[in-house]
Amino acid sequence: MTYGLISDIHGNLEALDAVLTELSDADGFLCLGDIVGYGADPGPCLTRVRELSNLICVAGNHDLAAVGSYDLGWFNPFARAAIEWTTAQLTDEHAAYLRSLPTTAHIDSALLVHGSLPNEMDYITSAAEARLCFDAMPGNLAFVGHTHVTEYYEVRSRSRGPRQISLSSGGEVELRDKGRYIVNPGAIGQPRDGNPAASFGEWHVEAGTVTIRRVPYDIEAAQAKMREARLPEYLLERLSVGR
Ligand code: ZN
Repeated sequence: MTYGLISDIHGNLEALDAVLTELSDADGFLCLGDIVGYGADPGPCLTRVRELSNLICVAGNHDLAAVGSYDLGWFNPFARAAIEWTTAQLTDEHAAYLRSLPTTAHIDSALLVHGSLPNEMDYITSAAEARLCFDAMPGNLAFVGHTHVTEYYEVRSRSRGPRQISLSSGGEVELRDKGRYIVNPGAIGQPRDGNPAASFGEWHVEAGTVTIRRVPYDIEAAQAKMREARLPEYLLERLSVGR
């Protein structure tokens, strides 16, 4: 069984389609939230995601904010402007779907959550923040998104704290029997780890490995649509640099 790991699509259809082409052989899909927000194609991205086979999806903060279920006070002015634009684009059906998403889910022994635990919308950006999640999660494996930084955290023994390991150029995570792991497959639609290519993962369940990959996509096409929609210039410029 191989699951495609997708996260932080953020309404970027060009990036999502490039990733889904790479994941055409996946048996199922685990989506870690933020399907919408920032990009110019929230509706088409929602349609694509909902069509995926064996999909399990959790809500991100942008998904909830777009349907009035998360306080916009947490957002910077650029993100807020994009959310307000996104809200106006959503059909009733798409809005109902976003409202229906849980904030956590489980598949086999793995936890799916957008941000962290115990608070689902907290960020994991350091070993200290990862430790809070390791302490709160029931099993040995979690998949998270939210930071738009492709990396993982590993605990190999109780006496040593989590190690933070970058995967910004892709790579493989070997899930050892006695280890504990938090894996962030990175952002499809708005990477922020210095690599502008769309980031995604594959969880090979029987092999006990996670492969992280990056795929280039037509950034200029995504930017042109954002400009046409009058979304903030800053949000489209950052796609070119992955910051
Ligand atoms: Zn996000």
